Amino acid sequence: MPATPLPTATILGYPRIGRRRELKRAIESFWKGNTSETELQRTASELRAATRAHLVELGLPAAGGAVPESFSFYDQVLDATIALGAIPHRFADATGGSDLATTFALARGDKDHQPLEMTKWFDTNYHYSVPEIDERTPLAANPAALVAQLAEAAAQGIESRPVLVGPVTYLLLAKASDDAAAGFRPIDRLDEVVAVYAELLAALAAGGAGWVQLDEPALVSDSLAVPRAEILTLVERAYATLGAATERPSILLTAPYGDSSAALTRLGALPVEAVQADLVRGTLPEADLSSGALATAFAGTQLVAGVVDGRNIWRTDLRAALATAVRVQDAGIATVIGTSNSLQHVPHDVADETKLDARLRSWLAFADQKVAQVAILARGLAAGTAAVESELAEVDAILADRQAAPGVRDAAVRDRAGAVTAADRNRAAEGDRRDAQRALDIPELATTTIGSFPQTTEIRKARAAFGRGEIDQEAYDGFLRDEIARVIRLQEEIGLDVLVHGEAERNDMVQYFAELLDGFAVTEHGWVQSYGTRATRPSILWGDVSRPAPMTVAWSGYAQSLTERPVKGMLTGPVTILAWSFVRDDQPLSDTAEQVALALRDEIDDLVDAGIKIVQVDEPALRELLPLDADRQAAYLDWSVGSFRLATSGAASDVQIHTHLCYSEFGEIIDAVDGLDADVTSIEAARSRMDVVDPLGDHGYSRGIGPGVYDIHSPRVPSVAEQTELIQIAAARIPGEQLWVNPDCGLKTRGYEETVASLTNLVQAARAVRGA
Ligand code: GLN
Ligand code: ZN
Repeated sequence: MPATPLPTATILGYPRIGRRRELKRAIESFWKGNTSETELQRTASELRAATRAHLVELGLPAAGGAVPESFSFYDQVLDATIALGAIPHRFADATGGSDLATTFALARGDKDHQPLEMTKWFDTNYHYSVPEIDERTPLAANPAALVAQLAEAAAQGIESRPVLVGPVTYLLLAKASDDAAAGFRPIDRLDEVVAVYAELLAALAAGGAGWVQLDEPALVSDSLAVPRAEILTLVERAYATLGAATERPSILLTAPYGDSSAALTRLGALPVEAVQADLVRGTLPEADLSSGALATAFAGTQLVAGVVDGRNIWRTDLRAALATAVRVQDAGIATVIGTSNSLQHVPHDVADETKLDARLRSWLAFADQKVAQVAILARGLAAGTAAVESELAEVDAILADRQAAPGVRDAAVRDRAGAVTAADRNRAAEGDRRDAQRALDIPELATTTIGSFPQTTEIRKARAAFGRGEIDQEAYDGFLRDEIARVIRLQEEIGLDVLVHGEAERNDMVQYFAELLDGFAVTEHGWVQSYGTRATRPSILWGDVSRPAPMTVAWSGYAQSLTERPVKGMLTGPVTILAWSFVRDDQPLSDTAEQVALALRDEIDDLVDAGIKIVQVDEPALRELLPLDADRQAAYLDWSVGSFRLATSGAASDVQIHTHLCYSEFGEIIDAVDGLDADVTSIEAARSRMDVVDPLGDHGYSRGIGPGVYDIHSPRVPSVAEQTELIQIAAARIPGEQLWVNPDCGLKTRGYEETVASLTNLVQAARAVRGA
């Protein structure tokens, strides 16, 4: 069956949003009804063609399946749902027309249909649309889009490789639909789903595919409903069947995002033609490599060595990467150079960053640079290290330059971090703090918000005008002060107890701080897809972090000067700043987190000096960075909690520290949440109808809790009755003096009309429960 081997250079996937977010604009214009589906399809097809041609230009062979078809209109998991025909029953009357219409219906919902839920894809900040499966969910192969893309590529003279989320990962990421019987698990339908994959593969073979890529990142995760050992068995079962199919392309099975070393020898023995291993996050199975067991397992199977990091933006140490690949090859295994995972998590091209400091820019590699690196390594693997010595030497020099450059290591920052002691992470006893904070005079069931108020068009316009130099600093600051004053007055009118300044000055909760801290740089075009048409532009944390000047004090201090009620200072925590930036790879994350924590610690000091009595430090990414590998979780929780405590423990007892965690699924990390030792923790809870309250109650959580009573993800205004009911559910489990009343999250994506109505109802609901 294996017609031709995979060429020795490939990548697992490429960004699909377009160099200037062309796809975003095209899709949004279609949604608005400004363009037709035909026009959108044409734009997408042009984008795919340009991407394929570009990848070949960058060094991937046009023949032999080296170029992946990793395009998606919205999400690759949703694409698999469409390819499997696994349309949930509840959408039966919402689909129709084309696959594209169905895709958007599932992704976005409509007035009668809640969209598919979205959740984070492994330990990334990318969100996928969660499949809903039950016993009766239809399954029928729908290879149309995949086959069409192959034909497009062929017409261009390129033999591309279709990419699909694999069957085991697909089902393990799915949730049981509301119609499923108790105890049903989507993975129970594995054999049926594998049968549909076999049909898809047959269609692809008929359509001319030499290779197909099936992604099984479930292989590296300990955070799924099924233990990892069992996942491997399921993968063996699924691929034994797929491998035995007579009509199929050669299969590349991938295990990106983590360490598959414990499974690799067994994966090599499967009846597939190539297996990829992430050798950045993961390692090689050393014992099997030296004993020859790995080579035996891989006889007739290629190993794609994922040595180029698809998660960060640094130039690869080519010499080290090549040495790893050479070790595999020297063990007698047919080796292909690849990336650790799809490049969808990195921006397109460093060359676009003309405003970046040239020296910093020379250290970077975005998707295009990484493809070129893959090609260099492949040449080195084929022709010997000497053949690429000049390229390796160039990188050696660049890496040395990076290590020695001013700002990468700052002695003052390092001395201070080195002098941190355990005492710096501990506040006074909880009881003492509670007593000291009585002076704040906060009522039971205190009402507050999570920080941001609507980011209106006027705010965005003013920021853009300031960015372009059309208005000066003074005018811009004046605008922001007026905005703050308006938000403070509004909150007083609504009757909230603890106020916020509204975050009008922030473009983004991480980038705002990145722009003000030393050690960070900000890109111009470094967009990365977050979900659907949404993209974020992570900052680059390249050097030692310090705070040249206070960052939020002027705004928070001004807000506090306008009111008698307490105003919360508002900061983003160290873990979240790291999670949503591209972080340096030359030291442990924990070291970087400590530096950020010390900068925040100083900021809290300054806020308190300016009269602020309550400071909220947001850590919505605490769960996201939890390693997929269970063995690495304890160490992570230890340093992440430690960095939050280092940031906040300089606060005297009478200063109330809040934190905010967006999601409600934190069962796994409940000890860590408790370990943050925040005086008050707000959590998303409205959609799950307060199901965070029981675990916290059972855990004996003794400090303040603010379970969200208002879902801010939609413009819907929750009534007084609804919010009252949610508060009552929480109050039945948690004493009133511990309970806070707040929305699920910040209000920046909302409009003022619904915000005012919803908060007015929230205050009334709290009063109703207090009075009862
Ligand atoms: N304080 C931030 C806000 O209100 C928190 C945002 C978040 O949790 N993602 O916008
Ligand atoms: Zn949030």
